Amino acid sequence: MLLFFILGLFVHFVFFGSIFDIYFTSPLVHGMTPQFTPLPPPAKRLVLFVADGLRADTLYELDENGNSRAPFIRNIIMHEGSWGLSHTRVPTESRPGHVALIAGFYEDVSAVAKGWKENPVEFDSLINESKYTWSWGSPDILTMFAKGAYGDHVFTYTYDADSEDFGAHDVTKLDTWVFDKVKEFFHAARNNQSLFSKLNEEKIVFFLHLLGIDTNGHAHRPSSREYKDNIKLVDAGMKEMVSILEHFYGNDGKTAFIFTSDHGMTDWGSHGAGHPSETLTPFVTWGAGIKYPQKVSAQKFDDAFLKEWRLESWKRQDIHQADIAPLMASLIGVPFPLNSVGILPVDYLNNTDLFKAESMFTNAIQILEQFKVKMTQKKEVTLPFLFIPFKLLPESKQLNIVRKARSYIKQRKYDEAVSLCKELIHLALKGLSYYHTYDRFFLAINVVLGFLGWTSYAFLLIIKSHFNLTRGVNKEVKKPSHLLSCSCIAIGVFVAFFLLLQDCPWTYYIYCLLPVPIWYAVLREFQVIQDFVTLLLTVPPSYFVGYLLVFILGIEILVLSFFYRYMLTAGLLAFAGWPFITQLWTRAKSISLSWIFFSLLLAAFPLMPVVGRKPDIFLVMGAGLLVLLLSLCVLTSLIKRKDSFINEELLLHLFQMLSVVLSMCVTYSTHSSLRKKQGLPLLNQIISWLILAFSLVLPLLSPTSLFERLFSILLSLMSTYILLSTGYEALFPLVLSCLMFVWIQVEQETLQQRGISCKQKVTSVRFTCSTDITQFRQLYLDDVRRAFFLVFFLVTAFFGTGNIASVNSFDLASVYCFLTVFSPFMMGALMMWKILIPFVLVMCAFEAVQLTTQLSSKRDFNVEQGRAGVVWNEKWRVCTCAVTVS
Ligand SMILES: [Zn+2]
Ligand SMILES: [Zn+2]
Repeated sequence: MLLFFILGLFVHFVFFGSIFDIYFTSPLVHGMTPQFTPLPPPAKRLVLFVADGLRADTLYELDENGNSRAPFIRNIIMHEGSWGLSHTRVPTESRPGHVALIAGFYEDVSAVAKGWKENPVEFDSLINESKYTWSWGSPDILTMFAKGAYGDHVFTYTYDADSEDFGAHDVTKLDTWVFDKVKEFFHAARNNQSLFSKLNEEKIVFFLHLLGIDTNGHAHRPSSREYKDNIKLVDAGMKEMVSILEHFYGNDGKTAFIFTSDHGMTDWGSHGAGHPSETLTPFVTWGAGIKYPQKVSAQKFDDAFLKEWRLESWKRQDIHQADIAPLMASLIGVPFPLNSVGILPVDYLNNTDLFKAESMFTNAIQILEQFKVKMTQKKEVTLPFLFIPFKLLPESKQLNIVRKARSYIKQRKYDEAVSLCKELIHLALKGLSYYHTYDRFFLAINVVLGFLGWTSYAFLLIIKSHFNLTRGVNKEVKKPSHLLSCSCIAIGVFVAFFLLLQDCPWTYYIYCLLPVPIWYAVLREFQVIQDFVTLLLTVPPSYFVGYLLVFILGIEILVLSFFYRYMLTAGLLAFAGWPFITQLWTRAKSISLSWIFFSLLLAAFPLMPVVGRKPDIFLVMGAGLLVLLLSLCVLTSLIKRKDSFINEELLLHLFQMLSVVLSMCVTYSTHSSLRKKQGLPLLNQIISWLILAFSLVLPLLSPTSLFERLFSILLSLMSTYILLSTGYEALFPLVLSCLMFVWIQVEQETLQQRGISCKQKVTSVRFTCSTDITQFRQLYLDDVRRAFFLVFFLVTAFFGTGNIASVNSFDLASVYCFLTVFSPFMMGALMMWKILIPFVLVMCAFEAVQLTTQLSSKRDFNVEQGRAGVVWNEKWRVCTCAVTVS
């Protein structure tokens, strides 16, 4: 059994890892030659302002009095430059946002997972292509591009990472720091001959990264005064920076300016996902080579933004975030970043048609280069007769388009040249994604095969050990035939040889070879399958169809709840009706009533908004009070029941109640102190960590009586959960564990219905009396139902408050009792624990159910595993469908 368990773990790890190989692989290729336009560029230097975490609407809209929050930027839109929205992609995090901006490609998720600060993959960027770059801002962002660049032409000025404290101080100092340093820099340059001459070179970049708005958004949300005031401060600071620069260069008109942000921010102060508030960022550009404002009478946009912002008459031009990189490169005349997939937004350029056409041509060749390299790479590692080239862009067509575009430019048909280049770019990008996902289908098939095999194997094991299949007929045990093992070995060798020929990465061997032994194990049990089918045929068809329908319906609800949280509500409502179907209602009215009550109560949670959007500290306090009330009731009932209530037990119980009270106090005082901007008090921080540490130890000291142990676990976990809560979610584990407690009793009732278990009160079951697991009873349909309940409750525990969604969007407010200085890993670990707490409660309850129903947990685990496998496969199927559709 242990071997089976380890094998199962291995299989699941392999298939989990496969996601990263199949879906999240780096799109980058290397070996292209740099491409640049052979015409003099309009600007000598470029200034890039990135206001981290600034959403478009808060910048562009007018305040209550009809004034702009950013008068300088608004003035530019109306009198000096061009503007629009920059559409970013998921994940809307700082790192991928900046990579798209400066290097022109959308980073894959694995790069984000591999490291925040260093470069997991080598890539080229505008900063690398520049002659010199000076940058000021957060160390997390600047070092990323400095490391990627070769030579010593990138200069970075950063503050300590410790300054990024969400709780304390006025974080606008992150921005004033940058502005002050730039001022000092230009002041010093006047007396520094070598710096002065560097500053007068061409192709130079100044990059100002402004983190204050992002930090204020996380700490106070974008609707706050702090966030909006920070925008004003950045606007004023930029005005000053621009005038200093213009003054330094004597208004030579050779500077181009770009102002944008890496991502937006949700109303509840997070980013990472694909909500419009996160993906819509401002883009304003002016100066050398940029078009002046264009007055228009009507604009074609579906949204109501233009009207809202009163910018209807100034032409808005939206772009994709990665398009900014080629725009910047063409402005100062450096080669386009090698891995850029951005398309030059020619409408922004104030230049000759020849320049636009030539730049577009360069852009097309640069992207075509990537396509060629990618195709060559794929071709080299694929067997010639298996290689299916991208049909829309064969070599002849490439040559044809390039030649045609060249001749158009010669004939001065510039518009035709531009549109032809655009067509080539679109084809090349399509081809790039074609080769990038070339292996996806093949790998996905293998993984699905493996999973199906594993699920069937787990299922067969259960059938074998729990059903009396032979039914008296003494069949001779057939030895598995040599034919089967030989053919499996042959298939394995063939697959390995096939992969070897194609020069596949080692992980492919695992994905492709793993299904072979699994299916061998399944097929070896052919006799069992045959017997099971004969057994099934004896069941009346109407029964069979009925069970099958219930089964499919249950699985569908589970799968759908991954996508729509309200399906959990539907499931819980069905649970509430369950006692009426069985005889439970007639036998145990009070238990049934509480089951219905708590199911309905829990059903309300998935309907509420995702955690963190509406903080309400009073609900957290309410949850704490309820816990205290409940524990008082439990305490009195325990004292009543036991004459000899041991002192230590009482002490432990009181201590746990005290920790709940403490965590309530800490949460309250931390949140009020943060609201007053006094930071996180050290004492609060210490108490929080102590409560967390004790909560892991205290339940172990509790008495081994099932009920008391469970209650002690609940108290401990609740004290931590309160510390990590910001709103209604604090009530969730409480309601969940009440339902779990009723569940334990319900299961005991159903077992008694079958006359199996001797009546044993839940309160009197002890953990120490090890149940004899060799006495298996037969598996009933009830066990399948129980396994389904478990899986359903686990899914509810995960998605009940929408916690999963807030992990990727990092709702930082929930960890403020523990730390306020930005530290992704510590914060991630705390958030993870918050998500795991309801999960732990369900698992404990399930263990208790196992104990009271006296069945080895391994059996149900198998059923659950089979179930999970099916769920997984279903999900996989849905995912692959979604991918193929898109
Ligand atoms: Zn950011
Ligand atoms: Zn952020």
